[in-house]
Amino acid sequence: MFCILFSASSFISLHLQSLIDTHMAIEVTYRRTGRMSMRIVKNGDVHVSAPLGTSRQTVMDFIERNRNWISQARKRMEQQLDTRADFYAQLPLATKAEREEATLRMEALIQPLVNSYAKTMGVHPRQVSYKAIRSYWGKCLVKTHDIIFSYYLLLMPEWCVEQVVVHELAHLIVANHGPRFHALMDRYFPRWREARAEMRRVVRA
Ligand SMILES: [Zn+2]
Repeated sequence: MFCILFSASSFISLHLQSLIDTHMAIEVTYRRTGRMSMRIVKNGDVHVSAPLGTSRQTVMDFIERNRNWISQARKRMEQQLDTRADFYAQLPLATKAEREEATLRMEALIQPLVNSYAKTMGVHPRQVSYKAIRSYWGKCLVKTHDIIFSYYLLLMPEWCVEQVVVHELAHLIVANHGPRFHALMDRYFPRWREARAEMRRVVRA
């Protein structure tokens, strides 16, 4: 059964949302594009892009034609999330004691790296803190010079952690990920590409 909702989000796009089943929402955005396309987003929902003026029926037909692709892509995504859940489960952080222990280990791992690279690179991070975050390994708040690292770095080989430290410190010099940023990485941690690939491999192993 389809439940279709219309809502205007901005002057160039209009969202049409339909629920194919209770577990999945399909969101259609009308854009200045030449063709229809779709992708599965992280929570398993389907996002469809359609040219402005496409009829609702054409959109529904497109979804219907791609039903198999949708279910396969969602299955693959679920499997991926499962292996990631196994990865994160290796570091229990539910209790206060567990988090305290992880903080001590993080300090022992991260502080020496931050101190030594900050000196080499001539940067001055303000506060370094740790969070049980899964969506990034490190984050640099360029305005305040604060840096946050994920506890899950404890599950990574040390040379990969080093890469994350250098990456965040480099943001104190260059905020974006442009050519100047890459030049800094090449200079201070030449194996950064290899380290990033290794981190992706470890999470999925
Ligand atoms: Zn970055």
